[in-house]
Amino acid sequence: MRIKTFDDFEPFNKLRKKMGTESLGSFELFDPQRQITYSERESLEEGAFKVGSSRLRILKDKTIAFKNTRLWLSWEGHENFHLAACDHVQKRRHAKSSFVAGLNDLTGKRVCLECLMLLKFDGLDARRSRRLDLAETIQKEFKLGSFKKDYPFYPLI
Ligand SMILES: [Zn+2]
Repeated sequence: MRIKTFDDFEPFNKLRKKMGTESLGSFELFDPQRQITYSERESLEEGAFKVGSSRLRILKDKTIAFKNTRLWLSWEGHENFHLAACDHVQKRRHAKSSFVAGLNDLTGKRVCLECLMLLKFDGLDARRSRRLDLAETIQKEFKLGSFKKDYPFYPLI
């Protein structure tokens, strides 16, 4: 479909001047195949988004994405939440099981240490984590907010 441009439409140009915009803007059409919808975002914000393995992507940095957002994954009865494609997540993906996913801090679950090691988050790696006390401290003091500074969740470009 061809859409007529309105570049020369005088009322718009006047309005543009009034708004103080110098150049023409652009906008992206919403693509529900690639961008999360309002209702998906809502359940993600609540940490209650149910998602099948096949709809998840593992990004180059080994974090997990659904459409254009990173997220954490967990599942019912599981004590941790995961931020990367650690063995637990991969095992579940291969079994084609589903996950519960979210974007915000969650109570009652702890961050998966294997995920943090995989990402070498905060200098953590498998070698150093032999010092269990250090690993546990990192786990205890983990803040999703600071994690997001290194790995912004939404929107992924
Ligand atoms: Zn994990």
